[in-house]
Amino acid sequence: MFSGDPPATPLLGDFLAAEHGSVLDAMADWVRIPSIGAQPVHHRDVAVSAEWCAERMAAAGLEHVDVLSTRGHPAVYGDWLHADGALTALVYGHHDVQPVDPVDEWHSPPFEPTVRSGRMFGRGASDDKGQVLCHLEAIRGLLGGQGPGALPVNVKVLVEGEEETGSPHFESLLDAERERLACDVVVVSDSSMWAADVPSISTGMRGLVAFDITLRTAGRDLHSGVFGGAVPNAAHWAARLVAALHDGAGRVTLPGFYDDVRPLTAADRADMATLPLDEAAWAAAASVTCLEGEAGHSLLERLWARPTCDVTGLHSGYGGAGFKTIIPGSAGAKVTFRLVPDQSPAAVATAFEAWAPAQVPAGVHLEIHREAAIGPALTPTGHPAVAALARAISRVWGREPLFTRSGGSGPEEALGRRLAAPVLHLGVGLNADRIHAPDEGVDLDQVGRGVLAALPC
Ligand SMILES: [Zn+2]
Repeated sequence: MFSGDPPATPLLGDFLAAEHGSVLDAMADWVRIPSIGAQPVHHRDVAVSAEWCAERMAAAGLEHVDVLSTRGHPAVYGDWLHADGALTALVYGHHDVQPVDPVDEWHSPPFEPTVRSGRMFGRGASDDKGQVLCHLEAIRGLLGGQGPGALPVNVKVLVEGEEETGSPHFESLLDAERERLACDVVVVSDSSMWAADVPSISTGMRGLVAFDITLRTAGRDLHSGVFGGAVPNAAHWAARLVAALHDGAGRVTLPGFYDDVRPLTAADRADMATLPLDEAAWAAAASVTCLEGEAGHSLLERLWARPTCDVTGLHSGYGGAGFKTIIPGSAGAKVTFRLVPDQSPAAVATAFEAWAPAQVPAGVHLEIHREAAIGPALTPTGHPAVAALARAISRVWGREPLFTRSGGSGPEEALGRRLAAPVLHLGVGLNADRIHAPDEGVDLDQVGRGVLAALPC
C-alpha cells in the first residue's frame, strides 16, 4: 500500500466489476445486523456482528482470524503476513453502530438496507461497516480466486466493537495484544472526505472528555406555592452552572483551558485556505440559520483546531403536558469538552472537577462522573506513508487529495501511542452520509473507490 508509486489498478478494477453485486450483498448483510453497542437489548447482536466480520475476513483470505473478547463487546482480528521485507499496515475500523432513534425519521428501516440514488441507506452503512468492507474486499480481490494471491504489504486488520460507546476497553486490548498488533503504520478507515469530487485526507482528530453531572438542592421536588421563594431551585442552579461555561466571546471559562493549545502553523492555515468552503451551504447542510463560536477564529479553525465545550443534555423538573407546580429538587447535565493538541484529557477533567463545585453555593450538592477521556490525535504529515496514501487517492479519484481534520474523537490517539506508529486516515465517508442520524447512508461510488485505493496492485 505504501511502497513506491502504485501502478494503475486494473486487477481490483476487474474484481470490482465482476464482484460488485457480492460486495453490495455483503454490505447489506452486515448492515442488517443491529449491532448497537449502547443498548443492552442489542448486545447479542454486537457479538453476531463480530462473528460475521470474522467470517468475512477469513473469506477474504486473511489468516489468524480471531474474535477478541474484551470486558465489553468483542473486536475482530485477522492478518496476512507474507510480504517479506515490506512494511506492516494495521487497518482499524469498528463494527458497532449508533442507536437509531428517532426511528420514525428514517425513510427506510435502519436495519433493512436499501439502495436509492446510488446510496445504500442503513445504520452503519457509512459508520463504519461500509468503510471496513472497502479494505476487506480489496484484500479478497487480491488474495481470492482471480487475484495474484498476495498483498503488496503485510496487513493486519482490527475491527473494534466499542467505538460508538467510547472505546472503554480498547486501550487494555491494545496493551494485551501489543505483539500481535505491532505495525509500522495504522490506517484508520472511519472518517470522511471533503466531497466525492474533492478527495481529502484527515490528519487530525479532537480529543474528548465527558461528564455526567447531578445537582441536588432538596431531598425531593417541593410545592412551588408552599416553598417557593425560600428554597434553592435545582433547575436554576443547573442553568447558571452551564451558562458560566462560556464568556461573551464564545471562549470556555475553565481556568487554564487554552494554556496547552498548540497554535496552528502557517502550513496548517494554508491547507485550510485551499478547501472550497461555502459557509452558507455548510450552515444549510447543518440545518442551522446562524453560526457562532469562539471569536477571532474561522469556521474550520473552530471545528478542527480549537477546543470546545458543549452541554449535550440538560434536564430538570417536569417536561410533560401542561404544567406542574414544583420546585425541582434535582437536575442533571451532560457536559463534554472537545480537545486539541496538546491538551491533556486528564488535566482538563481535573480542572473541570475543581471548577464546577466552586460555581454553586453550599447547600447545592454536585456529583460529577467522568464518562470518557480520549486524547487528541495528529498525523505526522511529513511521513512517507502519507505521501503514498495521497498518491493512491490521486490515482483513484483523479485529483490530489487536500488535507483536512476531523472535529470528532475516536481511539486514534491511543492507537498511535500504544502501537508507536503514525496514524493515517483513509475514510470514504461524506458529510451527506448522515452518520449517527436518521437516514444514514453511504455513497456506493465512494465505496468502490475505497476498494481501489485500499491496496495498490
Ligand atoms: Zn465510526
